[in-house]
Parts: sequence; structure tokens; C-alpha cells
Amino acid sequence: SRLDKTLPICIYTADIGQEIESRAELERAMSGALGRGEFEIYYQPQVEALTGRLVGAEALLRWHSPELGDVGPESFIPVAEQSGLINAIGQWVLRKACEDLKLMKDIGLDHIRIAVNLSPLQFSNMTLADEIAETLRNADIEPSRLELEVTESTLMNNMSTAVEAMMNIKKHGMSLAIDDFGTGYSSLKHLQLFPLDCLKIDKCFTQDLSRKSTAEITLSIIELARRLNLRIIAEGVETREQADFFRQHNCDELQGYLYSKPIPAKALIELMKQQAST
Ligand code: C2E
Ligand code: CA
Ligand code: CA
Ligand code: CA
Repeated sequence: SRLDKTLPICIYTADIGQEIESRAELERAMSGALGRGEFEIYYQPQVEALTGRLVGAEALLRWHSPELGDVGPESFIPVAEQSGLINAIGQWVLRKACEDLKLMKDIGLDHIRIAVNLSPLQFSNMTLADEIAETLRNADIEPSRLELEVTESTLMNNMSTAVEAMMNIKKHGMSLAIDDFGTGYSSLKHLQLFPLDCLKIDKCFTQDLSRKSTAEITLSIIELARRLNLRIIAEGVETREQADFFRQHNCDELQGYLYSKPIPAKALIELMKQQAST
């Protein structure tokens, strides 16, 4: 995706660079991929803005297809959503993230939070929160260690059920983030209805901060999040200047290539160990 440089708002255009596979071909290859163990979770560190300390990580799905090579989530998640496969895949991601939290806890590293993306279809499944809560209980993991990310558009498309689904998640003590904020159409009025903990500023803002109008919109998003008492994570931070901007304006956490690309669980645990020993 790239930002259309002529517009102050975030508009994505499809990146068709590697998208030669047809939907049907993707769907066919994907249907057995879970069972064949072709999926992997990478984790992207989230650091505290003021100290640079690792405080969380976002789980990002990777598909290593022997047939198609490494396929990015931007091309396979939409297909999985259309075919309904996302339910099984999403459940696998959640289970794996909980296992990794448990793995970390067992070696004394239980301070970081793991964030998992929820697809619209998963989010509309009212028993999902109960299932996740049970997985967490069985693994003896503090529920607030798991943050669920729901995009702004998911929430706006299901306004009537969104609040109920979110209440259910909060009832179990899990943390809730609104993802890709600023790319949809939520108003302060809507946001006030949602029991959110965290707001993630979309990377299209971060990467266009040198434009005055984008910087101003970003400041108003920060102001909005502050008023609602939300923790703020800025995404897609690639440069020192971007990091400075968010630090100066009191964003809580930063995530982006400046700190780390998404990395395998093992590498994340190594980072955590390193940090624990300093
Ligand atoms: P997202 O949730 O907005 O995730 C952030 C994306 O930005 C990730 O792309 C990440 O690798 C990328 N990114 C992180 N830092 C930077 C940076 O500094 N610069 C740039 N240019 N990009 C950065 P990724 O991993 O390709 O994932 C794309 C999207 O696929 C995610 O966007 C999310 O919507 C979806 N996705 C990934 N994993 C899952 C999953 O397990 N379930 C669901 N439902 N969706 C997922
Ligand atoms: Ca996300
Ligand atoms: Ca995002
Ligand atoms: Ca996104």
C-alpha cells in the first residue's frame, strides 16, 4: 500500500507487485496450509516512547507456502476472510500467541503484552472472548497481557454489535486497541461508546508527518485519544524525526522499523532476555 501523496487523508491503493496468484489459487493453497504447519507468527516489538524499553509486541501472521513462496498477509488475509478460513487461522494465531506468552512466563519473562489482530468475522463471533479467556486461564496468564486489535472500520461496520462484543472482551480483563485509527470515519461520539484501552495511529500518518496538514491531523488524533484516556501507540515509525515528533507529543509507545521489523518468537525472547539482564 502507498499513500496517495495528493491527499491529506489516508487512502490506500492496492499494491499488485507480487499479486499474480489468483484468488482461487490462493484459496486452494491456503485450505491445507494450517494443517501442514505453513503459518508462522512474527512479532514486532513495541517500545516505550520515553525509555525505548520493550513493553509489547504485535503478532503478525506469515505464510511460508512451499508452492507460492512467502505470501504477505495483505494478499492472503482478505482471501481468508472471504472464504471463512480466517476463523480457523485466527484461532490458531490466538492459541499460538497464548502459548508464546506461556513460554515467556515459564522463563520468568512475564512483563510484556502481546497484541493480536482480530478480523471482522472473528470479532462478530460472540463466544470468541470466552474461548480466549479460557485459554488464558488454563495457561495461567494475566488476561491484560493479551491485547486484541480491532480496526476502526470493523467497529464502524458493526456498530450495533461492536459495543457488545467489546464489553465481552473487557469483562474478561483483556486489553482492547483500535487499529489503523484515522483511516475510517469514527467520531468522538462513536469512540466514547467503546470500552477501549489503546489507540494505534496508522502508519500512513507517521510516514507523512513532514506535511503540515498531516502533522496537524495527527496532533488532533493524539488530542482525541488523550481526552478519552487511551494509551497511544504510533505505528510505522521508521525515522528518528518521526519518533521525536511522537515523543514530544506524549505518545506512549512506538512501533516500527526504526526499532525492529517483525521477528520470529525466538528472536523476540532473545531481545527480552537481553533487556532483562541490563
Ligand atoms: P497492521 O495490523 O496495520 O500491521 C502493521 C503492518 O505494518 C505490518 O504489516 C507490519 O509489518 C508493517 N510495519 C511495521 N512497521 C513498519 C514500518 O516502520 N514501516 C512500514 N512501511 N511498515 C511497517 P504486515 O505484517 O504485512 O501485516 C499487514 C496486515 O495484515 C496487518 O496490518 C493486519 O491488518 C493484517 N494481519 C497480519 N497478521 C494478522 C492476523 O493474524 N490476523 C488478522 N486478522 N490480520 C492480520
Ligand atoms: Ca494491527
Ligand atoms: Ca495498524
Ligand atoms: Ca493496516
